[in-house]
Amino acid sequence: MAEQPFSYETLREFNVRHLWNPFTQMKDYCEDEPVIIERGEGVRLFDVRGRAYWDGYASLWLNVHGHNVPELNQAIIDQLGKVAHATLLGSANVPAVLLAKRLADIAPPGLTKVFFSDSGAEAVEIAVKMAFQYWRNIGRPEKQWFVTMTGAYHGDTLGAVSVGGIETFHGLYRPLLFPTLRVPYPYVYRHPSGDPEACAADCLAELDRVLEEKAGEIAALIVEPIMQGAAGMIRMPAGFLRAVAERCRDHDVLLICDEVATGFGRTGRMFAVEHEGVTPDFLTLGKGITGGYLPVAATLTTDRVYDAFYADYHEGKTFYHGHSYTGNPLGCAVALANLDLFERRDLVAHVQRMAAHVAGRLAEVAELPHVGDVRQAGLMVGIEVVRDKATKEPFDPVRRVGWRICRRARDLGLLTRPLGDVVVFMPPLASQRDELDAMLDILHRAIAEVTEEEAKRT
Ligand SMILES: *Cc1c(COP(=O)(O)O)cnc(C)c1O
Repeated sequence: MAEQPFSYETLREFNVRHLWNPFTQMKDYCEDEPVIIERGEGVRLFDVRGRAYWDGYASLWLNVHGHNVPELNQAIIDQLGKVAHATLLGSANVPAVLLAKRLADIAPPGLTKVFFSDSGAEAVEIAVKMAFQYWRNIGRPEKQWFVTMTGAYHGDTLGAVSVGGIETFHGLYRPLLFPTLRVPYPYVYRHPSGDPEACAADCLAELDRVLEEKAGEIAALIVEPIMQGAAGMIRMPAGFLRAVAERCRDHDVLLICDEVATGFGRTGRMFAVEHEGVTPDFLTLGKGITGGYLPVAATLTTDRVYDAFYADYHEGKTFYHGHSYTGNPLGCAVALANLDLFERRDLVAHVQRMAAHVAGRLAEVAELPHVGDVRQAGLMVGIEVVRDKATKEPFDPVRRVGWRICRRARDLGLLTRPLGDVVVFMPPLASQRDELDAMLDILHRAIAEVTEEEAKRT
């Protein structure tokens, strides 16, 4: 491997001068010592100064089999020797066709059609536009509203932001967004009852009210199944997703399940909807689809939706949407290799075993005096820290306790990012028991140290 010729100091200076990082306050970033990664191996990343870090957030919820995986590398190299890109607009390429078939084979039954894009946000935009156009194409143009959930995150393009519900990220753009019918997502820990059933019942009552009043004008409902991610890893009460799906079906409202974060084994099933036997009308996929290698996303849908667009050209029912790199052969080739490894290594079963082990370790974390709630689905974990465990009083947000915990973890050799005062733990799915233990030791220590310091101060 050739040495990269730039020192940390030079790279940092170029970064400060020219690179604007996403979801990053550049003032914090430039004043701190940014991590600049040079390479990865297994579930660890190495920066240009040679420091090693556990990848405790799977490189922002993407990574599956670890970094620098020979089988995945080889899939890209093999495809590179054939063609790097060939468009799907009016033609096709071999890996894209094979991946579409493969996704249809592993998806919940009925999701037979696959539309590719390059990011989770696009996969969501596509589901939203398809749902909207579906009703127009079948002569029911009055069905044009979307039901969305509080705290939802579906990506950062304007359509995806419109169906999102995180005030900090989305509030500012409200004048640019289309309005939606927002219903409460069941956040059990913050529900006055603290009881999963009561919380779910309240949320469903609100959904019933909206559907009864307006279903005739509603195109679709969009939800992150089982676990709301960016809201702070908030797990639904059991049965909630099925109850939502039944209500959508009864009111002839299309259901969009956004599995960009939960898909591909993350929650201990290949797709999170499987936990409740739900088949949505649209399933959006991204992140882990390529094992965390290349930007590929997909929107899966049914024959019912597809057939509403299948018509003579002059009827104007074509889906006029696409991106230059849609169905990129390198991305699709590595996605296929990723799915091969899932099978060969029985990775979903591995996730279930590791999740059980992690649950045991998290029970220790939950004992810490400032850990209010620990939420887990497979290897998708959020740890909510609070000032007062008895009253659930949060820390003052200006103290940025979650952020400081992750900063401390970094010094101890683990990378992750907080969601407010929720510390995220999303290791690569292939992480082994001893690796998970090493990561959780650091997380435990960082949480204990920072929250105790903070409590002493106030
Ligand atoms: C990350 C995420 C997205 C957006 O995916 P990008 O590839 O970052 O555009 C959409 N939905 C959910 C649930 C996500 O977690």
